[in-house]
Amino acid sequence: MQMNADLIVVGSGFFGLTIAERAANELGLKVLVVDRRDHIGGNAYSEADPETGIEVHRYGAHLFHTSVESVWQYVNRFTSFTNYQHKVYTNHKGVVYPLPINLGTINQFFGAAYGPDEARALIASQAGEFNVSDARNLEEKGIALIGRPLYEAFIRDYTAKQWQTDPTELPAEVISRLPVRYTYDNRYFNDTYEGLPVKGYTNWLENMADHPNIEVKLGVDFFDESQPINKKAVVGQVPIVYTGAIDRYFDYAEGELSWRTLDFEREVLPIGDFQGTSVMNYADRDVPYTRIHEFRHFHPERREYPTDKTIIMREFSRFATREDEPYYPVNTPGDRDGLLAYRGLQDGEKNVFFGGRLGTYKYLDMHMAIGSALSMFRNKLSPLFGGPEGDGEE
Ligand code: FAD
Ligand code: UDP
Repeated sequence: MQMNADLIVVGSGFFGLTIAERAANELGLKVLVVDRRDHIGGNAYSEADPETGIEVHRYGAHLFHTSVESVWQYVNRFTSFTNYQHKVYTNHKGVVYPLPINLGTINQFFGAAYGPDEARALIASQAGEFNVSDARNLEEKGIALIGRPLYEAFIRDYTAKQWQTDPTELPAEVISRLPVRYTYDNRYFNDTYEGLPVKGYTNWLENMADHPNIEVKLGVDFFDESQPINKKAVVGQVPIVYTGAIDRYFDYAEGELSWRTLDFEREVLPIGDFQGTSVMNYADRDVPYTRIHEFRHFHPERREYPTDKTIIMREFSRFATREDEPYYPVNTPGDRDGLLAYRGLQDGEKNVFFGGRLGTYKYLDMHMAIGSALSMFRNKLSPLFGGPEGDGEE
């Protein structure tokens, strides 16, 4: 077929849009971005709720944070950020505690007034079975970090609800995302930079795609052969950056990797404030959802939000079937073997570059997806098109 694009990008999430933006702006390439959804932006997409005007993150709360200077400089070309700092609370047996686990959580849980050293000593005595450096899975790492009583209260059942996988089968890294602090600091993230896009995520994502050389076609599934742009028609004709699920690309030839999907239930309530904070986790097994988001609290600076209505969203987690949107790679030891097999197949696909959370089967935050797209652009795509070479750094 006649191709009027120099590069095809499958998926308009942060990974795909970063590639498209760089290729168009730096190399002057014509880029065609296709996405099977009816909007751009992948899981970071947000929209104003029609009834309240409150910005809702359709695929779950998205908080931007990074310590990588180059990523921070890059994203600031497309949006400015508020000074929002994320804080999360958790409800355990009807009592609300601050997260991540900090001195406030420890003292409230044990009904005590420990100083940092006393709390450290207590947790060490309760974590004796395991130590952090040898922990082989999420359970061992969790107990090593916070001791068994806190692990059982705040981590075990929440993790079971979120992953539906035995915590001994889950990689230790999942829990390494959560800091443990012996101060009263309960900021959720440790990063140097944090904030929310002043005009919302979709404005930021649209600014990235706003270039005369970038064409975005929505509602196009790359595997639908009735569409002109599909895998069979274009692979081998033009370089492709693919950010969909890696197992789907190979038609599950090496089996299905396990993914989790989420179901969201939105509700507009006739009150100004439901929970007093943006995210409340529910640690216990008897509550079927993992957390409730209340979106007005992400933008306290927006004076235009109504004071007599609020919108909340309950999040439920379950295993994804082929028909569901895959959101989180589960990454059990079996999945890691499957992924290696897919990486082998990937090597045979000339000029197809796999990226992003789905394409690499990695638990990437936004800044990691953007950083990894910048590095793929510098190290692989730019040299392919005769542009400057990268330094090979990932
Ligand atoms: P995606 O955003 O998933 O984009 C992939 C795109 O590819 C999608 O638009 C999809 O429709 C499209 N696609 C897939 N298959 C096909 C196909 N066959 N044909 C055409 N198009 C296809 N990160 C943070 O930094 N902070 C957070 O607070 C945070 N919270 C999150 C909460 C949830 C519930 C989830 C799921 C993720 C969260 N993330 C967060 C991660 C963030 O969403 C990702 O880092 C980011 O979206 C990665 O972008 P991506 O381009 O790799 O993937
Ligand atoms: N976690 C938990 N209890 C909580 C919050 C998190 O057990 O109240 C664990 C859980 O296993 C989760 C992991 O820590 O998957 C990472 O949490 P994070 O909030 O980063 O998850 P995400 O926002 O990516 O869903």
